[in-house]
Amino acid sequence: METEQLFQSDAYLRAFEATVTAVEDAGVVLDGTAFYPGGGGQPNDVGSLIVGDETYEVTKVRREGAAIMHELDRAGPSPGTTVAARLDWDRRYALMRTHTALHILCGVVWRDYGAKVTGGNMQPLSGRMDFEFESMSGELVREIEARVNEEVSGARAIRVDFLDRDAANRHPDLIRTKVNLLPEGIRAVRIVDIEGLDVQADGGTHVANTSEVGAVEVTGYKSKGKANKRIEIALPPE
Ligand SMILES: [Zn+2]
Repeated sequence: METEQLFQSDAYLRAFEATVTAVEDAGVVLDGTAFYPGGGGQPNDVGSLIVGDETYEVTKVRREGAAIMHELDRAGPSPGTTVAARLDWDRRYALMRTHTALHILCGVVWRDYGAKVTGGNMQPLSGRMDFEFESMSGELVREIEARVNEEVSGARAIRVDFLDRDAANRHPDLIRTKVNLLPEGIRAVRIVDIEGLDVQADGGTHVANTSEVGAVEVTGYKSKGKANKRIEIALPPE
């Protein structure tokens, strides 16, 4: 039972109506959803489903094949039921700002220092990214922080596009994100483009403009191996 992934084309959709298509334990599958199921370092959304005067808490969301399963705090509505769904928007919007901040960091480090990303993770308003750096210093991270914030105040637009897999494979800016390693079944590759700075194959939710990120603070850095250095960031609440 496939779920339409509404968050892929509209990251700002925070409330929607949907129909329950399947039930499993205390979870429901919807025909379409704005709840992000987690992936690419971005945690899943939480929120609520409302049916009449009943409110079910959505405690976890995950992929199950082509379906997206919403785990609830108790046995949920039965198949065919129409639900009003609402994301925990403060949390999701914080994750969007954080995810975009990490892509800005990634773009700056690649453009100015030629270092590739080796991994990353985030929580609302904080995140970390590992880079192929030989060495890292307090002076260097302060310089990186200043350059990241220049891109935030530069108010760059962020576009989401879907590219045919072969076109994505040939896209010069996507070579470092290893589109060729995506599962064979994926024909259309979702592209997140911070105009003029960073292009990545990415499934996450992002803000529409870098100015929404706010001032980024580098809160720490550490060595995770010879050519692997971690940079930690934090964002202010809105
Ligand atoms: Zn990403």
